Amino acid sequence: PAAPDEARMAAPARADGLPEAAPRLIDVLEWHVARHPERTHVSFYRTPDATEPLSYGQLAEAAGSIAAALTAAGVRPGACVALMLPSGLDFFRCFFGILMAGAVPVPMYPPSRPAQLEDHLNRQAGILRNCEAPVLITFDQVRPLARMLTGLSPSLRTVLTPADLDAPPMAPVATDAEDLALIQYTSGSTGDPKGVMLSHRNLLANIRAWGRAVGLGSTDVAVSWLPLYHDMGLIGAWLGSLYHGCPLVLMSPLDFLARPERWLWAIHRHRGTVTAAPNFAFALCVKRLADKTLDGLDLSSWRLAANGAEPVNADTLDRFAQTFARYGLRPEALAPVYGLAEATVGLCVPPPGRGVRIDRVAPEPMRTRGLAEPVPDSAEALRFIACGQPLPDHSLRVVDGDGRALPERRVGRLEFRGPSATRGYYRNPAASAKLFDGDWLVTGDYAYLADGELYITGREKDLIIRGGRNFYPYDLEQAVGELAGVRKGCVAVFGVVDVQAADEQLVVVAETRETDAERRAALEQRIAGAAVEQIGIPPDVVVLALPHSVLKTSSGKLRRAAVREAYLNDTLGASTRPPWLQVLRL
Ligand code: ATP
Ligand code: MG
Repeated sequence: PAAPDEARMAAPARADGLPEAAPRLIDVLEWHVARHPERTHVSFYRTPDATEPLSYGQLAEAAGSIAAALTAAGVRPGACVALMLPSGLDFFRCFFGILMAGAVPVPMYPPSRPAQLEDHLNRQAGILRNCEAPVLITFDQVRPLARMLTGLSPSLRTVLTPADLDAPPMAPVATDAEDLALIQYTSGSTGDPKGVMLSHRNLLANIRAWGRAVGLGSTDVAVSWLPLYHDMGLIGAWLGSLYHGCPLVLMSPLDFLARPERWLWAIHRHRGTVTAAPNFAFALCVKRLADKTLDGLDLSSWRLAANGAEPVNADTLDRFAQTFARYGLRPEALAPVYGLAEATVGLCVPPPGRGVRIDRVAPEPMRTRGLAEPVPDSAEALRFIACGQPLPDHSLRVVDGDGRALPERRVGRLEFRGPSATRGYYRNPAASAKLFDGDWLVTGDYAYLADGELYITGREKDLIIRGGRNFYPYDLEQAVGELAGVRKGCVAVFGVVDVQAADEQLVVVAETRETDAERRAALEQRIAGAAVEQIGIPPDVVVLALPHSVLKTSSGKLRRAAVREAYLNDTLGASTRPPWLQVLRL
């Protein structure tokens, strides 16, 4: 038999190999620069016909110069630097510039949704206070906002734009694999965003495991419009492409939202193979494009369309597959995935090319005993979607309230462990303590396992207990969102404890532009009807609210707890666009 080394030599190599020994992100970039500095790493979409390229070499060179300028501005190794830029090549240059200065990038969302600006401003200030970044890198148009942030975050001393960051390049400051490569703030769906500490080792372990699970290589082409301040766009799309040497075609989320077909045309034009997006993006494509003819569109190159970051809807997947089959979309490309910032980004994915697997279970045992009893398909059956198996080297368990592991098909608290697991939240010992159950990490999600695959039933904080039965809000929100007159995606369902009845009241908040009293009353009736159909009980309260009352995170996720609080305080819709913000013309 061949000696181990010879065996390794004989193994079929990928086209270019991979930076398998690289301990840090900077080493990954240097690995590419040493081999193919002029090769395009990212193409930024400007118009359907024009993209702006950035090569590995250009990225490294610009970053060295930014690092020097940051050092000159007083940024010390180990400090956090907040990065609030729109999608574009400057983001990448600055991100690596911060790393080369030995500092820690903290991506933050640039303002884009005027309706919730005040709320976002408070959250951004909270992030800045938590990470104590002395420097914020942002862009000219938001200087007034940056000034306000400076007022709200005492440690923030300097606001710079990429144009300010120009100095003769310097060599990277020495750091190691255990040093922080990034602080990724959670979306803040359930409360204030928490700063997940991610080391180079965590990031690279996740990127490598993901690449092995889905077989990424330099012949892949990633196409993404996901924002760069969120882990799926930042790590999943960008850093994953960087590591695996596949070109990334990046467009701004605003370009996608304005015309979702641009995403599909970009896949066509660049022969895109891999993408990721939350469920709402697939739903938006169906809603806006199902009746359009997209002459000549060819989606046959698309081999992996990961759908994750929020609950995956079986109907959406069905309709997406049907709508785009005529353009060559292969249904088996659709892959529901599960992840969370605490696991770096992705945690579970189905085997590539397997397609969507749906589990149909009986409603009663599920709602009363948390038992996922399989049944044939019927109108009553509850449907749950397989999110695949844990990434290589990672494991999952489902436990009961006392921390005892449950068998398959029993719903309980989902926990995980593995090399992508964070060591905790930055400067937040209370939240960090709650994150760990021994050496397992608590996800905050309820789930069951079946045939080794993960089925998420819902978030612990979203669970509504009514008359001894457990309900999640998602299917009802979806159904109400489909009703004419209701703003799709702008419905929140939650429970409010009713002390007298020792039960929970079921509340539905739905946004509408309808003002006519009679039509509003009819709409309330239809919402009640939808609840009876979905979960067998009418809601106790239906609130028809103004647009933008249903609060969302910067990545578009519903913030049910915040909506519930506003409902209880009678301030629903109160935070929509305060007049003083109009002065900024944002
Ligand atoms: P916060 O922790 O601040 O409340 P968040 O949990 O939304 O915000 P992220 O880490 O960005 O922040 O999102 C991870 C969460 O998203 C998971 O814990 C889960 O609730 C949800 N999620 C991700 N993928 C799926 C999926 N496939 N199905 C259902 N939910 C999912
Ligand atoms: Mg979370």
